[in-house]
Amino acid sequence: MKIMLDAGHGYNTAGKRTVDGTMREWEFNSKVAHYVNEALKGYENVSTKYAHDTTGKTDVSLTTRTNNANSWKADVYVSIHANANGNGKWDSASGIETYVYTSKPKEALALANKVQDELVKVTSRKNRGVKTADFHVLRETHMTAILCECGFMTNKEEAALLKSDSYRKKVANAIVSGLAKQYGLKKKTVTKMEDKAVNNTLYKVQVGAFSVKSNADKIAEELKKKGYSVVVTQN
Ligand SMILES: [Zn+2]
Repeated sequence: MKIMLDAGHGYNTAGKRTVDGTMREWEFNSKVAHYVNEALKGYENVSTKYAHDTTGKTDVSLTTRTNNANSWKADVYVSIHANANGNGKWDSASGIETYVYTSKPKEALALANKVQDELVKVTSRKNRGVKTADFHVLRETHMTAILCECGFMTNKEEAALLKSDSYRKKVANAIVSGLAKQYGLKKKTVTKMEDKAVNNTLYKVQVGAFSVKSNADKIAEELKKKGYSVVVTQN
């Protein structure tokens, strides 16, 4: 299945930053999109594309974003954002909300509910629920589309969370869990070779040391029967 990931805005998009100016919304959105993309690589039959410019230099227009999703024939569109409230001052509004289009498409609503539940579960932030809005990316996409607002840049406590890598990873994993639940995505089985490649370290298990080779071969045979891959070596 094809999943389009949309980190809202660009690095230089006006407004769109924490009250103290120490984080652009783009920094949060794009990092989360990156982590979602990385996590989705661990699932079978999933391909992904970004709706945004990964350098952040261009704030890709909303029309281009949705046109690209439509022409690629994405199955799902996930737009990632951080919220804001009030007029440029720290504010008490907090929590997480997920949006679907005003017509409440059935599949989008089901996906939004799952993602919203996961987001609240892993972050323990206030559950503001699944809401509807006439947002361009929800209206103009020809596929299931949701938009996640993952915390408020205008809330001091949440701004600090939005800046942290651990929070960004939690949010990304929650989005992936929601997608996996909705579409029954299966994790790829990690083979031992991949395991070795990832860690770049090889751990050996020694069962015994024998002065007579036939004794070593005998143990090796027993282990092979049990399904272990065995090598007899000589020191
Ligand atoms: Zn936004």
